[in-house]
Amino acid sequence: MIADHLPKSIYGFTLSSLREYLLERGFAKYAADQIYRWIYRHQDLDYSSWSNVAKKIKQHASEQWSFQLPKIIRQQLSSDGTVKFLFEMQDLKSVEAVVIPAKDRLTLCLSTQVGCAIGCTFCNTATQGFERNLTAAEMVGQLLTINRWLGQQRPDSMQVSNIVYMGQGEPLQNLPQVKIATTIFMEPLGFGISQRKITLSTSGLVAGIEQLKDFPPVNIALSLHSPFDQVRSSLMPINRAHSLEDVLQAIKSLPLKAHRSITYEYLLIKGINDRMEDVQELVRILDHTTSKINLIRYNQFPGSSYQAPSDQQMIWFRDQLISRGLVCTNRASKGEDIMAACGQLKSAQQN
Ligand code: SAH
Ligand code: SF4
Repeated sequence: MIADHLPKSIYGFTLSSLREYLLERGFAKYAADQIYRWIYRHQDLDYSSWSNVAKKIKQHASEQWSFQLPKIIRQQLSSDGTVKFLFEMQDLKSVEAVVIPAKDRLTLCLSTQVGCAIGCTFCNTATQGFERNLTAAEMVGQLLTINRWLGQQRPDSMQVSNIVYMGQGEPLQNLPQVKIATTIFMEPLGFGISQRKITLSTSGLVAGIEQLKDFPPVNIALSLHSPFDQVRSSLMPINRAHSLEDVLQAIKSLPLKAHRSITYEYLLIKGINDRMEDVQELVRILDHTTSKINLIRYNQFPGSSYQAPSDQQMIWFRDQLISRGLVCTNRASKGEDIMAACGQLKSAQQN
């Protein structure tokens, strides 16, 4: 909890909450629009130079607001252009973010928590335990810092165009802050990232999925990883509390507003979930008309007991699903040489 007397991070305000905040303090509410443009459009954080903003607001900013961004303490570049960042927050806790380039987009995979409480047995973040939720300002700070880094270090690169909540942490365990961050990402006066370019990934908390009805209609990804309860429970302890049937039912009951797509993430682990019986059961439980499966190769890390399947096995698995009518892609495993899967840079730092 941040105490009241400490400066309030300016990056935690949605446009409407900033308007309200200014009004309550006797300032003009349109100043919120000006401030949003300076910060998110011009990436100018030096409020003293904001030419069209009233002096008394700048005075207030100097006394009451924090403009501090997460600090990049480590970065790693993959041969495929993926860049992984380790950020340090104000309380010295660290989280990761990964920037993934593709033909016409630049995707930022960002973290929502320091560590994670879900404890999936294949995930490096799980080994770090849960420390705390990130604030919306810390999530917005990840994007702003990376866009500024791109502007300085990669002047020819586009800015981040897509957001995936697939870094460290379980977004549904921090939903109020993730909702504020998402609203800020989508604000047309600011980053202006459309809901179609934002994806929230979850391990499958039923109550949290139900709350998504009141969330901007972004794309949803469910980390499925096995169609069998027993195997899924051994990979993801959360499955013992919320069985596969309940999770799939919760997902199906989400209103499929225009443009919201639902993807099933399927991590392929050698000998665990890459067999013919997995193919057959997936075909049985998933709705063929709306489901899209994203196959991800398991990214091994020091100390992990699972193994990644071969390319051949990945292709075989995909083709088996496609031949039975499911839409399925092999997500190119980006950044494998820098262990870009969730939690792996932070662990490497600690080793
Ligand atoms: N907690 C959320 C979002 C963060 S994890 C969730 O679990 O969905 C984002 C994705 O990274 C998940 O699909 C997760 O299964 C995957 N992941 C975790 N560890 C991995 C590893 N070692 N190799 C490849 N993907 C991994
Ligand atoms: Fe948490 Fe997702 Fe990792 Fe599972 S895969 S431990 S839910 S971050």
